[in-house]
Amino acid sequence: MEHDRLFMGGGWAVPHSTARIPVTSPRSEQPIGSAPEADAEDVDTAVSAARAAFDAPEGWAHWEPARRAEALNGFADALEARSSRIARQVTAQNGMPVTISESVEGRAPAFLLRHAAELSTRAPLERVQERADGTGSTLIRQEPVGVVGAIAPWNFPQSLAAFKYAFALAAGCTVVLKPSPETVLDSVLLADAAMEAGLPAGVMNIVFGGTEAGSALVAHRDVDKIGFTGSTAVGRVIAESCARLLRPVTLELGGKSAAVLLDDVDVEAVVHSPAFSAMTMFSSGQTCWASTRILAPRSRYEESVEALASMMDGLVVGDPFDPRTQIGPMVSEKHRTRVESYIRKGVEEGARLVTGGGRPRHMDTGWYVEPTLFADVDNGSAIAQEEIFGPVLCVIPYEDDAGAVRLADDSSYGLSGSVWTGDTDRGIALARRVRTGVFSVNGKRTDLGAPFGGEKNSGLGRELGAEGLASYRRLQSIYV
Ligand code: NAD
Repeated sequence: MEHDRLFMGGGWAVPHSTARIPVTSPRSEQPIGSAPEADAEDVDTAVSAARAAFDAPEGWAHWEPARRAEALNGFADALEARSSRIARQVTAQNGMPVTISESVEGRAPAFLLRHAAELSTRAPLERVQERADGTGSTLIRQEPVGVVGAIAPWNFPQSLAAFKYAFALAAGCTVVLKPSPETVLDSVLLADAAMEAGLPAGVMNIVFGGTEAGSALVAHRDVDKIGFTGSTAVGRVIAESCARLLRPVTLELGGKSAAVLLDDVDVEAVVHSPAFSAMTMFSSGQTCWASTRILAPRSRYEESVEALASMMDGLVVGDPFDPRTQIGPMVSEKHRTRVESYIRKGVEEGARLVTGGGRPRHMDTGWYVEPTLFADVDNGSAIAQEEIFGPVLCVIPYEDDAGAVRLADDSSYGLSGSVWTGDTDRGIALARRVRTGVFSVNGKRTDLGAPFGGEKNSGLGRELGAEGLASYRRLQSIYV
């Protein structure tokens, strides 16, 4: 797909920039399309359109929530009509196994639009309460925060964009979305859906671009809030800009989560369950919340290592368009090089390479890495502390539940984690003690209706749910 416009002010506009973003298939290593690369001037045009739409006296921000909800349901219908094409475009660009792109990338955005729309109509936006000193009343109001800059990564480009725009739009904000350069082509379909749904001009804008466009958006004087998902390093740069501007920001960053196998589990059955491989290896390990540090009880350590090795060996590595495939390629050659450098580092650090470590022999093109398992890993080593973002797991022994909690928390990240046990209450008790934003008991995956986000180097603030919606509103108290 060769695309030559940016989506701004309600239609496809000719960009100021003449630079282009080439997109390459991680499966065939061949070019599959390109899109314009916005510069700061293009970002300014998009933000101006969003500002004008937000400031319009009878515009989107002033519509009744129910009227906006109707428009967002129409947007969801238009996305659903394109669901399969969107999913396949995501797979073509980032190599996500098609069963995942169809179930997540093709479906979550429409679900989130409907859900955020419904949430936004639930509670009144104004309330009157008695003053604390009893001398009168105060009117407390909620308003949309304004123009939102939304910046998304390549690993779940559609759903992580929707984590932001669905809630921002439902709150009455207008949006400028900047997708990641690796995955720009699926956003063409997103823009088409917004147009077909008849969203007012400037309410939703999409600029394709990289660092220049991203930093211009973060620093633009007319942007009122930034929603970002991506790496911790870039998140820190964005946080610094937002701090100087005193601009609210939500940051969803990296992770290095633990999967705790409690000593009461049937290790063989748990490790071979689809829920366990999904929790640890979802989308070829290129998933922020994946549990990639496996904490196994010392008493059942060797049994756990063996079961994990046979699970990893059994994963189907192949063409991401083949519905049997569980592990696709890494998104780019550069990213594969990074994953492989961690595998080398693991060996150098003295961890035991149990299986994998190379490139799959049956895939001679495509940026593949074999599912790789390290045992006897020191939790302080690089492969246990740093985000690898590929099909690489570490196994670390622990002595008792308290020791497992200590190891789970001995990380600069705090996004997610999982516990596997025959006793749900024991699992919940352990989850309560770990400092992460989300946690799964026996493989339950992300609840799109609950707040999602991380602690420590994994981020700031929460997306999704009523709390996510509230982050796109500002409060005013009028003392009467
Ligand atoms: P990245 O940080 O390289 O890029 C993310 C986005 O930021 C891209 O759109 C990029 O163009 C843009 N960007 C880069 N530099 C910028 C700058 N200076 N100013 C503004 N924007 C800039 O991340 P990535 O490689 O696309 O994604 C992978 C990372 O995302 C992993 O670390 C992963 O853990 C994280 N992630 C986190 C979550 C979460 O919810 N916590 C979810 C998915 C991915």
